[in-house]
Amino acid sequence: MTERTRDALEILRTTFGYPAFRGSQQEIITHVADGGDALVLMPTGGGKSLCYQIPALLRPGVGIVVSPLIALMQDQVDALLQAGVRAAFLNSTLDWPEVQEIERRLFSGDLDLLYIAPERLAGERSAGLIERLHAQGRIALFAIDEAHCVSQWGHDFRPEYLQLSAFHERYPDIPRIALTATADEATRNEIVQRLGLGDARIFISSFDRPNIRYTVVEKDNPRRQLLAFLADRKGEAGIVYCLSRKKVEETAAWLNEQGFSAVPYHAGMDAASRAENQRRFLREDGLIVCATIAFGMGIDKPDVRFVAHLDLPKSIEAYYQETGRAGRDGEPSEAWMAYGLQDVVLQRSRIDESNAPPEQKRLEAQKLNALLAYCEAPRCRRVVLLDYFGEKHEACGNCDVCLDPPELFDGTVVAQKALSAVYRTGQRFGALHVIDVLRGKKSDKAAQWGHDSLSVFGVGAELDDAEWRAVLRQLVAAGMLHADLAEHGALKLTADARPLLKGERTLELRRHVARKGGAKAKKAK
Ligand code: ADP
Ligand code: ZN
Repeated sequence: MTERTRDALEILRTTFGYPAFRGSQQEIITHVADGGDALVLMPTGGGKSLCYQIPALLRPGVGIVVSPLIALMQDQVDALLQAGVRAAFLNSTLDWPEVQEIERRLFSGDLDLLYIAPERLAGERSAGLIERLHAQGRIALFAIDEAHCVSQWGHDFRPEYLQLSAFHERYPDIPRIALTATADEATRNEIVQRLGLGDARIFISSFDRPNIRYTVVEKDNPRRQLLAFLADRKGEAGIVYCLSRKKVEETAAWLNEQGFSAVPYHAGMDAASRAENQRRFLREDGLIVCATIAFGMGIDKPDVRFVAHLDLPKSIEAYYQETGRAGRDGEPSEAWMAYGLQDVVLQRSRIDESNAPPEQKRLEAQKLNALLAYCEAPRCRRVVLLDYFGEKHEACGNCDVCLDPPELFDGTVVAQKALSAVYRTGQRFGALHVIDVLRGKKSDKAAQWGHDSLSVFGVGAELDDAEWRAVLRQLVAAGMLHADLAEHGALKLTADARPLLKGERTLELRRHVARKGGAKAKKAK
């Protein structure tokens, strides 16, 4: 054991009270403490903070930590102070005398760690401060937390992060460590490039969360399905994510009526009630938070037993981050999602109708497609998830697909029928009507448009409504059908539908099976 390692271990034990390093923490810490640059990709809850906190304590001077989350900064500093580490933060919540006091402590060598918000760092006063600290040899390292915020195409983009590359040019002698839990290859490359980390050592931890069981159910009656999922989870803490503020409010109220204790959380609430609900979630046992994605960044509650999605997230990264809030204590936990055709329509149109530049739209569409492939995958969910992060994994035995494998069938003929029905009815009707036509249901609409005399009318009697919905959803996920929200979800063929329609290719589909809560509605054990 080198002296460096011994010193690091000593701090881990005496200051932080942990017996051993986790994963690659030790390697990262000695590398940075010895002056090396590092890019650390580690899942949420993996233990990134120690990777810069301990080197900052090992090296002379103060560690400057750039962090975009003001709420998180406060928590981190509180925890450090409790451990006896001299830490402080600089952000917009401080008044002038407080700022002056921190500056005084910086120059008297009275601080080990300084957390600073990126927008503050961009200001001239802070730039001058760092310049002077450096001149006096008082900077131990620069840590750049949530480094993916430098990615211009990511949803957490912070323009101020782009200026962080200047550290490298100005202070080449000070080690830099960038950390993130968002690590698809494109983002990774962007971080390296934009922060000038070409010479940094890259540490990639496994993103596997073996204690989380993944389940995706087809949405038919989401509330009933959620209730079935929650039935044997009374008294457990969890998060239910919804897309809109309205749905958050409604779902929380409804859960309370059903005998659960639930509170809402979204950006439209006033700050005081939001903080209160967050506080209750952290302190109370068995509380459910119904939330938009505004909830979660920096929530460190170890015993969140489940994360449920009533709406489709934007991407696999977002899904992974959100579900990653479950089971930080390592105990069995659930990631459950109800997903339906309407979700795809909504997310697609959100992308189509945004004012983003074409390149970003294309990227977002790709990310959504990757998520749809996850939802529709006939393979182990974990294999698909980890594959997205560039990691190979065996079938896990702890997801709905492994526990209850879907039946696959040659769906070429039914898919052709579905595509023909969309085409023959003029590509202007949503799934409901297309299914009615396929099943030969006599309706006013069919009569009005003369669809009851089409050759496709009634050709699909072999499947029921839910089965046809599953077929249409898989065709949308496969990119052969496009659901146009501007026309109330009207289904249209895409160019990719042609080879199938012309019999030039076949298509394997997963058979729809009616499920209730999830993988046989079993509880994780
Ligand atoms: P991240 O920033 O990667 O999400 P944190 O740094 O907040 O993760 O760490 C997550 C949790 O794990 C924290 O409660 C932290 O105290 C704990 N932790 C980190 N490293 C260790 C370790 N070596 N041994 C035990 N617990 C650890
Ligand atoms: Zn699996």
